[in-house]
Amino acid sequence: MAICNFCNQDMSAEGTITCTGNAEVKFPDGSKLQSLPYNPNYGDENQTCHDCNIKRGGNHHPGCDMEGCPKCALDSDVVQLWKGVPQLISCGHLDIECTECGDVVESDNPDMKLCETCALEAENE
Ligand SMILES: [Zn+2]
Ligand SMILES: [Zn+2]
Ligand SMILES: [Zn+2]
Ligand SMILES: [Zn+2]
Repeated sequence: MAICNFCNQDMSAEGTITCTGNAEVKFPDGSKLQSLPYNPNYGDENQTCHDCNIKRGGNHHPGCDMEGCPKCALDSDVVQLWKGVPQLISCGHLDIECTECGDVVESDNPDMKLCETCALEAENE
């Protein structure tokens, strides 16, 4: 059992229709876009997401590996989710770049603006 931090529902529960806490995606650059719903081009109307169990037409729980990136979808004219739309967790749009060196900051804390190396250096100064 895993509880989603965004909607407080059990992500492994059958019958969850949508993540009520994932109406929009907030990007590190401050922009917000409407989340892409799960709408695969296979299965029937009761098709559920194999990763986070929400139903067709619903929004994924954030972090689901089936969730498409709305920013990429804007760029590529691809409206249909997941055929051609890069995954939100891996496309890089959610990555925070270190303000010192530009490396990706490995942190869940959106206030963290430095990578580990630069944060250590800043501490030692
Ligand atoms: Zn999902
Ligand atoms: Zn959720
Ligand atoms: Zn993207
Ligand atoms: Zn850095």
